[in-house]
Amino acid sequence: MDDRPTLALKRGAADAGGEFRSPALERLVRALARLPGLGRKSATRIALQLLRGAGDPAEELMTALAEARLHVRTCGRCGCLTEDDPCAVCSSASRDATVVCVVALPVDVLPFERAGFYRGRYFVLGGLLSPLDGVRADDLPFARLLERFDVDGVREAILAFDASVEGEATALYIQRLLADRDVRLTRLATGIPVGGSLAYTDEATLLRAFQFRRSL
Ligand SMILES: [Zn+2]
Repeated sequence: MDDRPTLALKRGAADAGGEFRSPALERLVRALARLPGLGRKSATRIALQLLRGAGDPAEELMTALAEARLHVRTCGRCGCLTEDDPCAVCSSASRDATVVCVVALPVDVLPFERAGFYRGRYFVLGGLLSPLDGVRADDLPFARLLERFDVDGVREAILAFDASVEGEATALYIQRLLADRDVRLTRLATGIPVGGSLAYTDEATLLRAFQFRRSL
């Protein structure tokens, strides 16, 4: 016998949105359902797969999660996710510290690094201004952004935000913030579809958007 939770299900519990009789299983489903993009139905499917799937996927997930928690950190300079602080981009002598690409989330760095044409550095804001969601200027590290600009003598900042209301608001805020500094401020050209996500933009589109970036 194994000690995994008994799958004592109420009939049709998963589909009907009811609760499992096993408190342990119910807790697992609820924890999974809190993850972005997962509803209760998907969470239930994943929970059952983890507990009863071939090859003990739960063990693999627990190991991967433990290692990621242990090793992954945020780069103190740029905010990218890394195992070394400063990250490889910030500590590379071949990357131009005076050109900074400002992005919303760590995942937004990936298409640039995948495409390989960009030789500057990054600054991850950790979000975009969104008064409706309660994200205000005080919640984002704009002070640290300015400090980075001053320390590194940044001469160009490329704003690479999704084409959204939040992206526009954040670009406008940074434009005002940099008004009295001698920094060329550019924004990725159109090409990234409105409402589309930068993180999943293909390389050709990203390169075109970068080459035709417009000054603000
Ligand atoms: Zn870094």
